Amino acid sequence: MGQLMLVGLTTQELEKLVEQLGEPKFRGRQIAMWVYRKGATDFGAMTNLPKELRRRLSDVALINPLEVIDVKVSSDGTVKYLSRLHDGETVECVFIPHDKWETICVSTQVGCPIGCKFCASGESYARNLTAGEIVGQVLISKRRESPNIVFMGMGEPLLNFGNLVKALQLLNHEVGIGARRITVSTVGIVQGIRKLAQLKMQVNLAVSLHAPNDELRQMLIPTKLPPLSELINACWEYFRATKRRISFEYVLLKGINDSAKHAFELARLLKGMPCHVNLIPYNHAVSNFERPAEETVRRFHHVLIEQGISATIRHERGSDICGACGQLRRHHLTPSMSLRNGRHQ
Ligand code: SF4
Repeated sequence: MGQLMLVGLTTQELEKLVEQLGEPKFRGRQIAMWVYRKGATDFGAMTNLPKELRRRLSDVALINPLEVIDVKVSSDGTVKYLSRLHDGETVECVFIPHDKWETICVSTQVGCPIGCKFCASGESYARNLTAGEIVGQVLISKRRESPNIVFMGMGEPLLNFGNLVKALQLLNHEVGIGARRITVSTVGIVQGIRKLAQLKMQVNLAVSLHAPNDELRQMLIPTKLPPLSELINACWEYFRATKRRISFEYVLLKGINDSAKHAFELARLLKGMPCHVNLIPYNHAVSNFERPAEETVRRFHHVLIEQGISATIRHERGSDICGACGQLRRHHLTPSMSLRNGRHQ
């Protein structure tokens, strides 16, 4: 049977597994409960399973495909986990505490193939993560029963659509996290947005926009993407299908996309759409860009508000441990990765 990973299997799949091992079906439900709800990390903890079954399971399976190899805690309480996967690749996720809730930022790929110019994750790409490797990140970092989950770590979630959808279903049905607590972020994979809209899953959509026109967007995000007009149409489709307000993420880069003119252009692009804009002053993840002055950030924000666009300036968390947006992966590169910009072949 090889090394099977239990995290990543649905209750029905676990039921089949135990039946193959000659055990009654209900043992599968018990295992799902231990793995997803009680956070068991070893078979010894599964006290309502017969000892013999626990022994046989430990021969053929691992519980979580992630092995945590480093934990960094920021002065603001943010925790970054670095985990090793079965093939030696590594993945990072970030736990962000708030007074009354918590947010977990998960990755969907090892590195990212999109290669946004200002993003450390986009410097390299190795492979997609499996659904189990995605859900495993939540299980190693969650403290509360129902955390907020944001798919804003390494990778473009909609380029890993099948595993993303399975992970969403596992989080929702097995771990018990409400779909409305989950946010899927995308750089603008129009086909993926449309497919996700058709599933009507009620998860939130966050679009990383970063530019109010195609020319500037192409410069910052070199991968060929459908034009902004198509992206905006797909966002409208998503809104109509789910009734969920769309978030737009906009990294403010000094002298590049941070002028009042850009803000007016952005307001025109989003006019009438039920949406919210998160302004993210650049956080020094890659050296070629700079963070705008506070004054510039405030002016940009002010223009959006005046134009009737709901917007906030995002308070940065975890920057001292490199756990803020666009900083994941920065310090952990494995040999199989091919880095862009000629830094590593
Ligand atoms: S910003 Fe997102 S899409 Fe762009 S390279 Fe980074 S992880 Fe990939």
